[in-house]
Amino acid sequence: MKTIIEKVDSENPQKYEAVFMKAASVIKNGGLVAFPTETVYGLGANALDPIAVKKIYTAKGRPSDNPLIVHISDVTELNDVVVDVSEKAEKIINAFWPGPITIIFKKRELIPMETSGGLSTVAVRFPENETARFFIKKCGVPIAAPSANSSGKPSPTKAEHVKFDLDSRIDMIIDGGACKFGLESTIIDVSSEIPCLLRPGSVTKDMIEGIIGEINVDKAVLEKLSENEKPKAPGMKYKHYSPKADVKIVKGNAVDVAEKINAIVRENMIKGIKTGVIATEQTRDMYKCDNILVIGSLNNPEEIASNLFDVLRKCDSFEVSQVFVEAFDEDGVGMAIMNRLKKAAGYNIINV
Ligand code: AMP
Ligand code: MG
Repeated sequence: MKTIIEKVDSENPQKYEAVFMKAASVIKNGGLVAFPTETVYGLGANALDPIAVKKIYTAKGRPSDNPLIVHISDVTELNDVVVDVSEKAEKIINAFWPGPITIIFKKRELIPMETSGGLSTVAVRFPENETARFFIKKCGVPIAAPSANSSGKPSPTKAEHVKFDLDSRIDMIIDGGACKFGLESTIIDVSSEIPCLLRPGSVTKDMIEGIIGEINVDKAVLEKLSENEKPKAPGMKYKHYSPKADVKIVKGNAVDVAEKINAIVRENMIKGIKTGVIATEQTRDMYKCDNILVIGSLNNPEEIASNLFDVLRKCDSFEVSQVFVEAFDEDGVGMAIMNRLKKAAGYNIINV
C-alpha cells in the first residue's frame, strides 16, 4: 500500500479542506489515517467499525487486549459513546477538555469490543489540537486512535516518526508538525469512589487533585509489577518506548551520576561497546562521551517531556548499544517523564 503524506498548517487546518476531505473518505472506507494531536500522533480509524479498528492492531503489531482511545471533536459527542458521566468526570471535563487527558467511562453498545479491547469501559479524549479536531469533525464518526508507532517503539511526536514506523502499512499521514506536549495523554478512571490515575501525562496529579480532591495512582505507574499483578490500563503492562539500545537510568546527585556514567563510558570504550548519554543543558559538559543527546533544560520539564521520544528515537540513529540517562525529579510532569523512562529502561535503575 502506498502511504499518502499531506502537510498542513496545524493552526489553520481549514485552509486544507481537500486534504481533510481525502482523509475523511479514507476513514469512511475503513482505512487508517495518522494525524497530529497535542500529545503524540494518533493512528485513526472509525471507532464504530470493528474491521477498520482491527487494521490498527495489525499495522502497529499491537496486542488485541490493549484498548484504544476514542477521540471526539466536541464534548457534545461524549454521550453518543458512553453512559454514566459522573459529577467528578464532569469537573475534569470542564477543567481540562479539550486537552491532553483521557477519561474512562462505561461504554455504549455501539462501541465494538475490538475498540475497547474486550472491556465494558471505553477511554475517551477530546483533543485540543485544531488539526485533530478538524479531521475528526470531517470524518463525522468518533475516531479510535492509539499512538501511531510500531508497538513497543517510542511514541511518534513528528510525522517523520510515523513514516519511519508505518510507511506502506497505513493509507495516509497528515503532517501537522511537531506535537506540543510530546507525551501521551494522562489517563484517569473515575468509576471508583476515589478516582485512579492509570497513566501520568501533561495534566498532572496535582492539577487533577486541585479540581476533584484526592486521587489514587495505579501501582503500575510508579513501579514494575510482579508476574501476577495487572495494571488497570492494559497497555501499561507492555514494554514500551525502547530504542534498540539498552537504556539505564542513573539516579543520585549530578556529580555522582556524571562520575558513574563517565566510568562506564570509559570501560565500554575499552570493550568496544558504543555508548550514548542523554543529558540536560545544565549537565552536558560534565560528560566525556562522543554521543551526547541533550533533552532540554532542567528548568523546563515541559521541554524535556516534549523532546523525550524524539531523543529516544535518535539513540537508534547514533547506533549505540547502551544509553545512560539521568533520573529526573518526579514532581509535576516529572512523574510522566520518569514513568516513560522507567519503561524504556525496563526499570533498570542504578542508584549512586
Ligand atoms: P495509546 O493510545 O497507544 O497511548 O494507548 C492507550 C492506553 O489507554 C493504553 O495503555 C490502554 O491500555 C489504555 N486504555 C484504553 N482504554 C482503556 C480502558 N477502557 N480502561 C483502561 N485503560 C484503557
Ligand atoms: Mg501507544
